Amino acid sequence: MERLQKVIANAGITSRRKAENFIEDGRVKVNGKVVRELGTKVSHRDAVQVDDILIDKEEPVYYLLYKPKQVISAVSDDKNRKVVTDYFEDVNARIFPIGRLDYDTSGLLLLTNDGEFANMMMHPKNKIYKTYIAKVEGKPTKEEIESLKRGIELEGLKTAPAKARVKSTTKKTNSSIIEISIHEGRNHQVRKMFEAIGHPVIKLKREKYDQLTLGNLKPGEKRELKPIEVKKLK
Ligand code: URA
Repeated sequence: MERLQKVIANAGITSRRKAENFIEDGRVKVNGKVVRELGTKVSHRDAVQVDDILIDKEEPVYYLLYKPKQVISAVSDDKNRKVVTDYFEDVNARIFPIGRLDYDTSGLLLLTNDGEFANMMMHPKNKIYKTYIAKVEGKPTKEEIESLKRGIELEGLKTAPAKARVKSTTKKTNSSIIEISIHEGRNHQVRKMFEAIGHPVIKLKREKYDQLTLGNLKPGEKRELKPIEVKKLK
């Protein structure tokens, strides 16, 4: 059972706040009857109408995908390239990715059909850390790593404090492996941060999203989140 305003918001019609107004204004019916009480609980079998139009409800689902490189984090692509939802043809729900990974970034991507959950996960105030493994050119100095941790100016705006450490350096290829955790989600942020300290990214993978990891998944594989995992994120 879920609160009526949440079901309406999840259907993507409007925000939860506005859904509450719809209910108070008498625009919402449950099984044919106007319901004005906020917080009324409905199940997936109840017929919910907004302005007499039936809401097409779906059970909320939550998935973790190991996104391979060269896949678009979207539900469709006008150039017909592979998109992340191509890995969900067996899932009968209108899912979409929570945020994005670049075309050439691999790793952990969450997908859901729960719009409100997605908004919550991406809201900056929630400061959810995502951890990346970056292979970068050269060997960043201690001071360069410290500057990433403190925050650096990108397009006139300082990045929030990050966690970062050098895991290894290979002299032969003149490259280093860095683990970096950030809670912001600015466009190409990790790549831009390393670019800014003069160590461009060669390869990027997201290993962790809050406490979630890729576990034994291989690129292109997915798993449904357990209810407890979803609860912890909420
Ligand atoms: N930062 C990037 O630069 N790219 C990603 O895909 C994710 C974070």
